Amino acid sequence: MSKSPASYRPETRLVHSGTLRSQYGETSESLFLTQGYVYNSAEECEARFKGEDPGFIYSRYSNPTIAMFERRMIELEGAEAARSAATGMAAVTTAILAPLKAGDHVVASRALFGSCLYVIQDLLPRYGIETTLVDGANLDQWQRAVKPNTKTFFLESPTNPTLDVLDIPSIAEIAHKGGARLVVDNVFATPIWQSPLALGADVVVYSATKHIDGQGRCLGGIILSSEAFIAEHIHNFMRQTGPSISPFNAWVLLKGLETLAVRVRAQTETAARVADVLASHPKISRLVYPGREDHPQAALVKKQMRGGSTLVGFEAKGGKAAAFRVLNELKLAKISNNLGDAKSLVTHPATTTHQRLKPEDRAALGISEGFIRFSAGLEHADDLIEDLTAALEKA
Ligand SMILES: *Cc1c(COP(=O)(O)O)cnc(C)c1O
Repeated sequence: MSKSPASYRPETRLVHSGTLRSQYGETSESLFLTQGYVYNSAEECEARFKGEDPGFIYSRYSNPTIAMFERRMIELEGAEAARSAATGMAAVTTAILAPLKAGDHVVASRALFGSCLYVIQDLLPRYGIETTLVDGANLDQWQRAVKPNTKTFFLESPTNPTLDVLDIPSIAEIAHKGGARLVVDNVFATPIWQSPLALGADVVVYSATKHIDGQGRCLGGIILSSEAFIAEHIHNFMRQTGPSISPFNAWVLLKGLETLAVRVRAQTETAARVADVLASHPKISRLVYPGREDHPQAALVKKQMRGGSTLVGFEAKGGKAAAFRVLNELKLAKISNNLGDAKSLVTHPATTTHQRLKPEDRAALGISEGFIRFSAGLEHADDLIEDLTAALEKA
């Protein structure tokens, strides 16, 4: 393995960390599209299986391209170890489920990505794992939810889609005092703007489908943590149950990492400009942008994040009808449920990502009928602002 450039700054790590060059000395990372590996001798094969020879065995659990992606993420995140997965949900489900057994208890913030909410609310209880949902911004609720059998806290910050920012260091402290671990889904913050492990979290998960690919091509996920957590809880579970990432997808994501910092910075600058224009727009009743002084947790954003967000949340005056008119009038920003893409995307959470929720639950989360989530792409900010203001004029 090449020497790890973990001592360099994040931008440099994103380009160089984890590169494994073959005998051909290629500049760009190779795609090892192989299921398995051959051995020079039966003795070498035996040593590999005994773990005495560090080579690869089978791509369900190890592959050079996947190893490069994992190593680059490890060094970006400041983790000790990682395992990648086929999708963000494979990573989230494994990180939560693999260490638990019937009789354990999980506490999670209520403001979750729809499928994460399904895992917590529907899936875990079927296997005898108790779950409690709390208002993530309310530290007392986290504290009061702790029981003797609590093993895991789970949260996303900023939250989807209302971009609330949760206090990771304080929630980690409550978890640790209660003998639990904190798992953070860091998709909305991206590794560029927030490092949950440095803030006290024990495990970080990503849907690499979002900013890490960033160009709408493939799905992927990753779990990052201490070596001990991976070894004890994740390694064997993934090896035996097989939610593995394809080497091809790992290669796309690995190459995506090279441009991650540049893209996220540009998208954040654009989102901040869009937020400033929308904030004073007469057709809008509410605007949420982490990074603006009027964000409900502005002080917390400064404390635990290095930058704002590539996403902007806003509420069109006139409810669903007005929100739908805005979406339908947009020429440049595309209607989609995705985010973090090079193409700007708009989502109406009440009828898509959060349509499964009861209306009162949506209301409690601040997801009104007029609420729109805007994911800034790489287009020129002025073109996007013209597109959004023209669409709002017609709303
Ligand atoms: C998209 C997303 C996921 C799920 O990722 P997939 O790659 O689509 O499986 C999980 N958490 C958050 C916050 C997401 O945005």
